Amino acid sequence: MPTTDRVLMGPGPCNPYPEVFAAMGRPMLGHLDPEFIELLDETNERLRAVFRTENALTFPVSGTGSAGMEAAVVNFVTPGDVVVVGVNGVFGGRLCDVAARCGAEVVRVDFPWGTPVDPAQLLAAHPNPKLIAVVHAETSTGVRSDIAQLGAEKGEALLLIDCVTSLGGSGVAIDDWGVDIAYSGTQKCLGVPPGLAPLTVSERAIETIVPTPQSWYLDLNMIAGYVTGSGARAYHHTAPISMIYGLHAGLGAVLDEGLEEAEARHERCGRLLQAGLEKLGLELFAQEGHRLAQLTTVKVPAERLPTGMSEGDVRAVLLSRYGLELGGGLGELAGKGWRIGCMGHTARERNVSFVLGAIEETLAG
Ligand code: PLP
Repeated sequence: MPTTDRVLMGPGPCNPYPEVFAAMGRPMLGHLDPEFIELLDETNERLRAVFRTENALTFPVSGTGSAGMEAAVVNFVTPGDVVVVGVNGVFGGRLCDVAARCGAEVVRVDFPWGTPVDPAQLLAAHPNPKLIAVVHAETSTGVRSDIAQLGAEKGEALLLIDCVTSLGGSGVAIDDWGVDIAYSGTQKCLGVPPGLAPLTVSERAIETIVPTPQSWYLDLNMIAGYVTGSGARAYHHTAPISMIYGLHAGLGAVLDEGLEEAEARHERCGRLLQAGLEKLGLELFAQEGHRLAQLTTVKVPAERLPTGMSEGDVRAVLLSRYGLELGGGLGELAGKGWRIGCMGHTARERNVSFVLGAIEETLAG
């Protein structure tokens, strides 16, 4: 059992809001208990608020963000469908993989790591795709891509976005942007432990749900009645009750603070962190103007490391001496830099000062 509190400043999970654990310890209800159904309905309503959508089909998929990704693809893609995917990091690559497993003809459009997806290039990649998919906030690189142009110019295509690292932290606006399908995870800016994948689906996308998706568990035809229906709810699978208590409470914390205020706090703390890292003489990895505030990527060149230490050794010291977790780099940044999260309850000025002080002391050797 963990005996010390960590300050979780990796790419996820972050430190959950305190209200969440109190909620997760509540007495168990049955998954068809009217009190639980009411709580689930309220959770879905809160999710609509953070997604900024009116979509009726909005609920937490039982599973982590990856389950959301699979649900978002498998319900809409059948063999031979053209799926255009913008790839500027690890998670865009995963979207290609999931679509390919559904038999899609995947049109993969690559962008250099550290840069955003260019909407014009994505729109020009195929004349009439079934689906266009993009990661709004690439956790592997710390980059935000613009979605609104894709929504405005998508034509007949469905627009799917991954907002695992952006929901609750950076201005996700499903209806204004014209997004048809979006999924997220609970462990990042929503400040809840990992385990659920908020999903939202537009009316237009609902009309295209395939009759028998290649997943039984994630089949929206069967799940939708239970999670968003009215009146009697039919059993599909046993809802993860305590996790839904936790999500309900985490969303409550975000909405009590005010969604805009919570997003502004992420922005303020992330920029403070980035300015502090630059002051330490470290170079940021993500392209300026497209940097996420909630997930900072920073280069840590060998000459900045204490003699005989790798960047991984430095992170190990940060963990053992300070109880502070940072994420290692991925791809081009692997072994050469860090990913520092500033998400959910962790996104506080005090944690920014703490991480900057700890990094400075540790790099000084
Ligand atoms: N998409 C993005 C952008 C992510 O950052 C992650 C996880 O970090 C995922 C998808 C997958 O989520 P999970 O690890 O919760 O399954």
